[in-house]
Formats: sequence, C-alpha cells, structure tokens
Amino acid sequence: MSDLLERLQRLGEVGRTGEGIERPLFSEAEHQARTLLAGWARASGFDVQQDAIGNLFIRRPGAWASPPLQTGSHLDTVKGGGRYDGAYGVVGGLCALEALARRGVEMRHPIERVAWAGEEGSRFPKGCLGSSVYAGLTTRQQALALRGDDGMSFADALRGPSGLLAEVPVRETPRMPCGYVELHIEQGPILERNGLRLGVVTAIAGQRRLRISIGGEAGHAGTVPMAYRRDAFNAAAEIAVELERAARRIGECVATIGMVRVEPNQTNVIPGRAEIRLDVRSVDDERVRRMIDELEQLARAVRERRNVSIELEPLEERAATPLDPALRGAVRTVVEALGHPVFEIPSGAGHDAMCIAKVAPAAMIFVPSIGGASHVGHERTAPEDLQLGVTALAETLVEADRLL
Ligand SMILES: [Zn+2]
Repeated sequence: MSDLLERLQRLGEVGRTGEGIERPLFSEAEHQARTLLAGWARASGFDVQQDAIGNLFIRRPGAWASPPLQTGSHLDTVKGGGRYDGAYGVVGGLCALEALARRGVEMRHPIERVAWAGEEGSRFPKGCLGSSVYAGLTTRQQALALRGDDGMSFADALRGPSGLLAEVPVRETPRMPCGYVELHIEQGPILERNGLRLGVVTAIAGQRRLRISIGGEAGHAGTVPMAYRRDAFNAAAEIAVELERAARRIGECVATIGMVRVEPNQTNVIPGRAEIRLDVRSVDDERVRRMIDELEQLARAVRERRNVSIELEPLEERAATPLDPALRGAVRTVVEALGHPVFEIPSGAGHDAMCIAKVAPAAMIFVPSIGGASHVGHERTAPEDLQLGVTALAETLVEADRLL
C-alpha cells in the first residue's frame, strides 16, 4: 500500500469511535494526529513549524526567498466524521511535496503544506478558525476568548497538554502566501454521478441562515373546527414546501429546513408555536438574495391567510467566494494533461480556502465521494481517485510555481 493510503488509514484510527471519527480541536486525538503528521514530515526531511494558534506548517524551500505557495486543509473532524474530510488534503499535501522532492523538481517558490487548526467548528463556535486568524479575518484575541462546548477557553486549551506541539518551533509573524491550492473530497454526489474523477472548483457557496418563528394558537385537537384554527405548524410547513419550490425555480441554489420545533408537540394539541430554520446557499449571491425575497413575500402571505405571527431573524450570512481564475486555469491545464475531462464544480460546503482566498489567489481540487457521503463514518473515496488527486495537486503546484 502506498504512503498516502497507509497514512490515511493510520489517521483514521485516531479518535475513532463507534460511529466514526471524533477529533475536535486540541483534543487528545487531534493532538495525536498533529504529532503523527509532524513525525512523517520530519522523517521525509521537511522543516516543521507551528504558529501561535496551532496551525502546523511543513516547508520545502524554493530558489527564491519569496512568499510561499501553500496547500493545506484540516485535521479536526465533526462528531462521527469520516477519515478523508480534511485529513486527505493534509496527508495528500505532504505526499505531493514528497513526490516533488523525489523527482528533484526545482521550484522557484518555497512550498508549504498547512494543517489549519479547527476548520469544523466542532469544539469552538467558529468554523475555519485557524485559517481565519492566519488571514487576519479574526483577531488572535477573539480566537483566544472563544469558549468551547466543554466550557474551556481556546486560550486554556491551546496551553494545555493537547494544545501546541511541545517540540515544534513556533513561528511568530504569519507570511501571506502568493497562492493557495486545497485538495479535498467533494462531500457530495456530483462527480460520481457524472463518472468523473477530478473536479475544478469554481467558487465556494455563499450562505444565509435564518430563524423563522411562528405564533398561532394552541387548542384542543378534537373541539376546534378547522375554520377557526391558527395552526403554527401548518404555517411553517406551507413556508417550507413553498421555499423548496422557489429554490427549484430559481435554480443553482439549495435551500434546507433542517430544524423544526413545535410547541407543545403533542398529538392531541393544535400547535401554538413553531420555529423552523432555513439554510440557503449558492455560489451566486444574487440567487440567495432572491430566495430571501421569496421568503419575505411568503411570510407576508401566510401571515395574512392563516392569521398567525411570523418573525424572521437572520442568524448567519456569508458571501460567496469566487476562486482565482488564473489558478483555476492551472488546475484545468493539469486535469487535461492527465487525460481527464475538465469539469467545473461549485463547492456547497465551506473550506479553509474561503479565508485564504481573501489574502491570496486560491484554487481547489475535488475528488469524488462514494455515494456522496461525508461527515459520516462511512465516508469513502476510491484509492485510485485519492492517488490521482495527489498527482493533480503536485502538478498544479508546479504549474502555479511557473505562473505566480
Ligand atoms: Zn473539510
């Protein structure tokens, strides 16, 4: 078995529970994963460094003393996560650097492989934490003050036994890269359904989340005639179904009602209150805005028709992140040279590349997820696709080195 597959399998044992993998940031398991990576990198002769908030770097020097070309992803997982989300990009980045070193490819730029700290937001209430601080979108102070779901602050966890690696030098000032390429599993079904092995990512979807609170009137399920009812759940259901229709009509966007709360939630009581939460995403911010317009119109119509109160409360908003045209072109060139069709695909999920794209040209390469499954223990990608992705990454770094 290759180094890539062997290492992924080894990492897949770290933090394994019954349902999948659990490696929240600065947990024992996540610390062990970073230790393994640092050990593998050192054994291959790379310089290993970390920064003050736990991002882990390995470096291959270039001919120029220029800003580095970076590739990276994350080692933390969601609860019950899979073995490839994040870990693939980190291990794959190391394997790509090793392949370039083995072939004696001389690069102009230094190349860095980064394992970004805490991408999933599965312990501290902020996703893409390490890359966001690195890019200056979140201050170090804001990060240190965050409190995890176990009550411990980020600052304490960082100083604790599972925080920074003991024997790795800490780098003080972050140096922004001149380019960034992230290799990741697709986490959806599109590549597999189209019989494709590589995807060139166009953009990372923007997202809005809203809370929709509906007030009706609770009552006896047997005595209140239908005409007199103000059923909060049925109002919520009507909104949900109409939003689904709107998303299909608008196209190239996805809308999900993934959370529903009904009160008093009893079989023989008409629901007096309901809360649903909407998550809308698209790589085209205009389509997300149109969905929100649809929601506002719907809320007005349902309020009137059903004599209920409806309140909309924004919870989260993030604009779409277009990826760099020139670096995307480099990925396309490589995919073609490897004899595969060029397929452009948007990313519905957020990634560290979102943050780094704010400070440097960024691109992403996707490989297929079997059955589109991700954030689950049975997340899989075919071994030959994993290998192909690493080859594509190494070649893209070479191409980017010429370009930038
Ligand atoms: Zn990920």
